[in-house]
Amino acid sequence: MPIRQLPSDVASKIAAGEVIERPASVVKELVENSIDAGATRIETVIREGGVAEIRVSDDGSGIPADEVSLAFLRHATSKLTTVDELQSVATLGFRGEALPSIAAVSRATLTTRATGADSGVRIQLRYGETAGLDEVGCAPGTTVQAQELFGNLPARRKFLRSSAAETARIQEVVSRYALASPGVKFTLTADGRTILDTPGSGRARDAVLSVYGSDIASQMLPVLHVDGDISIDGFVSTPQISRGNRSYMTLLVNHRWVFDGSIAYAITQAYQGMLPDRRYPVAVINVVIPAHAVDVNSHPSKREVRFRNADRLFSAVHYAVRDALLAHAPVRQVVSVP
Ligand code: ADP
Ligand code: MG
Repeated sequence: MPIRQLPSDVASKIAAGEVIERPASVVKELVENSIDAGATRIETVIREGGVAEIRVSDDGSGIPADEVSLAFLRHATSKLTTVDELQSVATLGFRGEALPSIAAVSRATLTTRATGADSGVRIQLRYGETAGLDEVGCAPGTTVQAQELFGNLPARRKFLRSSAAETARIQEVVSRYALASPGVKFTLTADGRTILDTPGSGRARDAVLSVYGSDIASQMLPVLHVDGDISIDGFVSTPQISRGNRSYMTLLVNHRWVFDGSIAYAITQAYQGMLPDRRYPVAVINVVIPAHAVDVNSHPSKREVRFRNADRLFSAVHYAVRDALLAHAPVRQVVSVP
């Protein structure tokens, strides 16, 4: 076959596949947009593991009526204008890929009213094609609804797990962002049942309580450690509590939920000699570092980041956690009597 440039509908489905792997990816992107919009309340409603419907509503800044159709264009973003800004990006989004990707693989509706606007706008798309744009009455903020996810991509749909398993992944995403943004009130309702409801009090411990329950929350020790321009805060469990896998460790870098094997190792290493083999702590570790010291653009789903000085960060996290544990149960000094 000769080389040909793919028609744009094929190209956009391929691109969408990178960003939107499963229902939880839709929820992640929409929740990130709501946080970027300064929301104080983010409500997520799903049906059938998100395949039938995902709806995320916020009370954030909204989108001005004349920009609503731009939001669904690829690489259209209000968060970045120059390559240089990529080095100091403070928002969770910046690529302008989420909304067009979601719209390419679902029937999407976005309803929004910008702060200060008299009325709202609703735009509907059907697998990437705009199907309507109307003025509507609505509260300030934004609601994005995606229905019949992957209805046009049967191959992708076949790889999804059960509704319960996809719901669990969505619950994980919303929970991690609730831990990342304790000042925001999060709710998650799955098939009519509310499975997460955080107070949005601004206190990290309250978010931990909502996500993990009182048995774990009462066993969490505060972490606070400042080392030059690195600051680390959060909570780690006492050695009395441990889990059989690493998924109870939440790592946040500048309030972005990321995965980093090396930092996860720094956390578990700090428990050396305190936990049985193959047991892991519960932890919420928030690393705040200057934006230029981390590259957030190194991974398709932005789940991994790169640090300019990974070694220094590793030891800072290690000491932060170790300090918290020792403050809780100081190691007894062995005094040798002559
Ligand atoms: P990105 O987040 O990378 O900018 P998206 O495709 O996720 O790209 O969103 C495109 C644009 O639409 C955003 O830059 C923002 O201006 C606007 N937008 C999306 N969701 C919201 C929301 N919940 N509230 C306000 N504006 C939003
Ligand atoms: Mg986004």
